Amino acid sequence: MTESERRELSLLLEWNSPSIKSLQFIKLHKQLIYVFDNSPYYRKKFESAGVNPHHMRSLAEIEQYPTFDKDEERLSQAKSLQLYNHPLGMHITCDIRSVNRISASSGTTGNPSFQGHTAYDRKIMLKNFTRLSKINGLKPGDKVLMAGVMSMWVAGIPTIDCLLQFGANVIPIGGLVGAQKVVEMITLTYPEVLICTPSFARVILKKARDEMNIDLTRMGLQSICVYGEPGGSIPEIVSEISSGFGGAKVYDMAGGTGCLNPIFGSCEAQEGMHFMAPDHAYLELYDRMTKTVLPMVDGAEGELVYTALERECGPLIRFLDGDKVRINLSPCSCGLPGMRIEILGRVDDMMLVKGVNVFPSAITDVVRKHENQVTGNIRIIRKNTTPVVEPPLRILVETKGVLSSKTKSNLKDALELSIQRQLRFKAAIELYDEGKLKLEYGATGKQQMFLYE
Ligand SMILES: [Zn+2]
Repeated sequence: MTESERRELSLLLEWNSPSIKSLQFIKLHKQLIYVFDNSPYYRKKFESAGVNPHHMRSLAEIEQYPTFDKDEERLSQAKSLQLYNHPLGMHITCDIRSVNRISASSGTTGNPSFQGHTAYDRKIMLKNFTRLSKINGLKPGDKVLMAGVMSMWVAGIPTIDCLLQFGANVIPIGGLVGAQKVVEMITLTYPEVLICTPSFARVILKKARDEMNIDLTRMGLQSICVYGEPGGSIPEIVSEISSGFGGAKVYDMAGGTGCLNPIFGSCEAQEGMHFMAPDHAYLELYDRMTKTVLPMVDGAEGELVYTALERECGPLIRFLDGDKVRINLSPCSCGLPGMRIEILGRVDDMMLVKGVNVFPSAITDVVRKHENQVTGNIRIIRKNTTPVVEPPLRILVETKGVLSSKTKSNLKDALELSIQRQLRFKAAIELYDEGKLKLEYGATGKQQMFLYE
């Protein structure tokens, strides 16, 4: 990044500066008027809440607008499919013929939710992607092997679209071919950058090492860009992936549903993801229980509420996507200003064990502290999808290699004690020899943490 690019990026990242706040107000105001004037759905929704964007005078007034959640999105999309033969929802705000691409996100219930992109929306996405490249060092001409699930999922073809327009030298193999083919392609093309989920990066390393006898530390990979799972920001996983690929830098990235991802990305310092799109996404921190907006102060935890700015096709206004995050406002050692976030987990994945909120990522963190004896792969057994779980919570943990029965018994006790002390709930650990724990991946390539019995 040149000095002038750095200065320009720094100004944008100052999400709380008066100039960014006034830019956000102008864009938010325009966006709200756009949806109000173009969508009978939004007009009715706003009128029922007693708000009219034509009378909006300050950014703070956004808190008077109704939120939009996944259930509402699902119903709106089911209705438009029934009435108009498209799944983009009754909240679509543009002519269906100006939609240029339909993408999907996997829903936790198994039903995908859909997003439409106009040509202009694709341009905003490219702007965000280009900004991310300033943070993670991707350059036009870099040879990029795309090993994420490469389909209509938001992280699939839309990422390829951005990479091509950005000018990368793209090798679009896609993750569905399996780890072996990806390893073979690495040896045949020597990519500089690999894109995939962190769990798939680990599967690739294991396949090459244990079954193919291929040393991936010598392939010249410079960076591994990961997304979609908490692993990309867990230091132990980052360092395992980095050393497995010969010291390649690991960069995490994330989007916010409806906000034309990516909008968050980690830098070389790996100290959380920078929020890099305050001009394209308006964020609020929210407490779903009390339905209140929380102050965005250092260390605050809550659910993010996303509002897309400058979006043409069905922008989601105050969308509750279920991302629980912690805000970090301390200076990043890379020197860039602004806000960073740590994704704690999905609200949908949160379990309530004897009144204690537990995210799968927190359990993984505790298990990983015993890294000499465990691979880090876990599965959590649940009876149903309701959040309340009766202890002990059954957790399946994969050991490194095959341990003696005495070592196993000690490890089980140690893990249960660690969980009790650090997470304050009772777990029942069941250990599996390496390779014996069945891992499953969802349609988008994300590792499934829960196993339902
Ligand atoms: Zn940084």
